[in-house]
Amino acid sequence: RRSSPSQTEFYQAAEEVLESLRPLMTKYPKYREHKIIERVVEPERQILFRINWVDDKGEIQVNKGFRIEFNSALGPYKGGLRFHPSVNAGVIKFLGFEQIFKNALTGLQIGGGKGGSDFDPKGKSDNEIMRFCQAFMSELYRHIGPNTDVPAGDIGVGGREIGYMFGMYKKLANRYEGVLTGKSLKWGGSLVRTEATGYGAVYFAKYMLEDRGETLEGKKCVVSGSGNVAIYTIEKLYHLGALPVTCSDSRGMIIDDEGIDLELLKELKEVKRERLTEYVKHRPNAKYIPVEDYESGTNGVYAVECYAAFPSATQNELNLKDAQNLLNNGCVCVSEGANMPSTPEAVDLFVEKKICYGPGKAANAGGVATSQLEMAQNASMVNWTFEEVDAKLAQIMKDIFDTASQTAAEFGEPTNLVLGANIAGFKKVADAMIEQGLV
Ligand code: NDP
Repeated sequence: RRSSPSQTEFYQAAEEVLESLRPLMTKYPKYREHKIIERVVEPERQILFRINWVDDKGEIQVNKGFRIEFNSALGPYKGGLRFHPSVNAGVIKFLGFEQIFKNALTGLQIGGGKGGSDFDPKGKSDNEIMRFCQAFMSELYRHIGPNTDVPAGDIGVGGREIGYMFGMYKKLANRYEGVLTGKSLKWGGSLVRTEATGYGAVYFAKYMLEDRGETLEGKKCVVSGSGNVAIYTIEKLYHLGALPVTCSDSRGMIIDDEGIDLELLKELKEVKRERLTEYVKHRPNAKYIPVEDYESGTNGVYAVECYAAFPSATQNELNLKDAQNLLNNGCVCVSEGANMPSTPEAVDLFVEKKICYGPGKAANAGGVATSQLEMAQNASMVNWTFEEVDAKLAQIMKDIFDTASQTAAEFGEPTNLVLGANIAGFKKVADAMIEQGLV
């Protein structure tokens, strides 16, 4: 904290993990002897760089670029790139730290990393996006590679941006290889990668509920966000017979009691890149509520009565008051598609009340797991069918749930998946670090 006092999100993420590790450290003194905690909180490498590009008016723009290669004990660094004005060293560091344990939990051979820029893609022309992505990659390309560090998308980085970055990488490296995941299906992508994080968060909810003899069928659900994760969460909820009634963006939210119109949402967000105010023009029975009209200090999405909630926008979007609103309205399940969407006080309440609570590093691991399946297909030059990849994704989410809940039970708190996920993920990384020596 003394060396980087402003990295609040990183300290929040690290504190949560370290708190969970107490019983493990007591049971296995070897982790203390090898100073695993002191080593794991320091990234192996942090790359900070300048990005110069020229906007449509011919003016020079300057942005900050980040890539944190946090831990490679289990495989090449793997984690997304985020383009959003709120990106700074602390945000990327928290995301990279979470990624280490999330990736370990998938059981696949991937290390943890994360990157991005404070560039704001909103309102930029397609040409500006392309020039920015090219400028970003003109520095990043020298640090990444299919066996070194394999970035993917995150907030503000979808298929379009991955395409422009891949084109620039290929030109500079003079190699056509699986250096990025989330690629187009026409040139190296994997079926289900686009859908994977949202689908995975719903599978995770399904397994948590099944364990208690419950299902999502016929149940009202709330979803926050309206980007990649939110859209495919809504899609999978419909597949399982649930009724998703909300979505949101940074300016406001939609309540559609008949169920969110998925095709309309996809058209507005994936094709036209419009705001949610457009949604109600096509669905007169739906309601748009701007952020200013939310009850003060709350997120309007979580004030809506529901059986299950799927936070799918951003960090710290669900606070203690929101958690209380959810519980008072009968919500029994929260499955996090976003990274660290619940504040520590909200997490504590969910754990204390023993609802089905799936923390992001377990519930949203389907995205990175399917990225690894994309890497496997690239390396073997074969393509699997949608059904094959979806079945593997569902099985991975089941395995993550089983691992987290069995570990939680082993340490005396059977319903506490925060404890279970943190201990199980950490243990895999720590054991690999010990076996690989002091490097
Ligand atoms: P997108 O850029 O596709 O969508 C992000 C959504 O969240 C948008 O609706 C956006 O609204 C909203 N949002 C972003 N910042 C804020 C904010 N400060 N306040 C309110 N709303 C906000 O990103 P993704 O769907 O890919 O990512 C969503 C979350 O899921 C992130 O936490 C990400 O780290 C996590 N995640 C994503 C994975 C993936 O595979 N894509 C994998 C694992 C986790 P607006 O358009 O108005 O900004």
